[in-house]
Amino acid sequence: MNSIVEKAKNAALSAAIHQALDYLKKDPETNIPKLMDLVDKLAPDDWYEAQRSAFRNAIREKNHWYELIMKVYALDEGVRETFFRNFILNASLLGSATQEETARRENCNVPWAILLDPTSACNMHCTGCWAAEYGNRLNLTFEELDSIVTQGKALGTYMYIFTGGEPLVRKADILKLCEKHNDCEFLSFTNGTLIDEAFCQEMLRVKNFVPAISLEGFEEANDGRRGEGCYQKVTHAMELLKAHKLPFGISTCYTSQNWNDVSSEKFYDQIIEAGALFIWFFHYMPVGNGAAPALLPTPEQRTEMYRRIRAFRGSKPIFSMDFQNDAEYVGGCIAGGRRYLHINARGDVEPCVFIHYSNVNIREHTLLEALKSPIFMAYHDQQPFNDNMLRPCPMLENPEKLRAMVKETGAKSTDYESPEDVDTLCDRTTPYAEHWKPTADALWNGEHKE
Ligand code: SF4
Repeated sequence: MNSIVEKAKNAALSAAIHQALDYLKKDPETNIPKLMDLVDKLAPDDWYEAQRSAFRNAIREKNHWYELIMKVYALDEGVRETFFRNFILNASLLGSATQEETARRENCNVPWAILLDPTSACNMHCTGCWAAEYGNRLNLTFEELDSIVTQGKALGTYMYIFTGGEPLVRKADILKLCEKHNDCEFLSFTNGTLIDEAFCQEMLRVKNFVPAISLEGFEEANDGRRGEGCYQKVTHAMELLKAHKLPFGISTCYTSQNWNDVSSEKFYDQIIEAGALFIWFFHYMPVGNGAAPALLPTPEQRTEMYRRIRAFRGSKPIFSMDFQNDAEYVGGCIAGGRRYLHINARGDVEPCVFIHYSNVNIREHTLLEALKSPIFMAYHDQQPFNDNMLRPCPMLENPEKLRAMVKETGAKSTDYESPEDVDTLCDRTTPYAEHWKPTADALWNGEHKE
């Protein structure tokens, strides 16, 4: 009975949102403020009050958020509507309700997003990346990818993010997956070099695929790591995407070397001008036997990243997220299926894209069994790993937690090439954690509270 009531409520919500979007698309500049007035009159006072108030301010002041909203409205109509339906309605509103219900019933985490590597292969040979050395030996078949998405949807997960290797080496299967699961949103980390005119046409056809292009900084830094001419290829890909009114974002890993460039106003302006709608920042993670701890940002550098990203959030028309310093918005570590999990190209189900330890493989276990596996349950039972949201990670900032979890659960290394013992990894991150702690505590209890 409950599920009939839920279904009716979902159908009503879905219809109301479709109607609102239909109304908005006719004249967004005039109709967004009118719709917000209506929402304010009808919604209870405490219903997403902070978000509604930020949205109202954006409209009143016609500030950078408003500019971003208008950019979304300038996207290809079919792609934009599919994004609203798949990302906002299916993945976030309806999906979250199903995820919560499943999590309660099964007493385990259920993710909002699943990250998966269709392949370990890559078309490039970047310094320090294992994919080039490991070649294309490992792939998830189309049937396996399809099965993961089908199982995920049954749990309420409608957001799928490709990692790798270079996912677009498998572009035909990725497009087939987008087509088959047209109620899901697919995002892909990519080096951008395989995005061409034909692929843009395919994106317009399937409508539910969004690339996040990796950039390490300006031309010199980028080509230094990825090879000469790479930056120009990426620039060309962004021009094509923009010309076709297709959404895309940037993904950046910050290190002790490039942090100043990638958090500069010049870099922000450049990617905004290129048409990026979002930028995701990742703190360098010293994982694997070939890791380079010297690339870890110092406490001063990380603090500056924290400050600059927050400052630009208040002035630039781009949605930015710094996964290591923004944990407060998601209640700490999101891994272990709490918000996401990762499945590598060999099928190992890992709590996080950076945590290469697992008890289960998707070729032998269901997704739900993986969520109930020992290391996932250890995440479930122990999150958040720290009350200070500037120290969220069980590996980077609380290495004693990962060390204990891996040992207690018997999770095995999933590194294909060179298995890494958890003690080796945690011994490497311990000095960083100790060094960052006083700065993080001062920042969290001081500047952040203010
Ligand atoms: S395990 Fe660490 S890197 Fe992964 S989501 Fe949690 S906090 Fe982030």
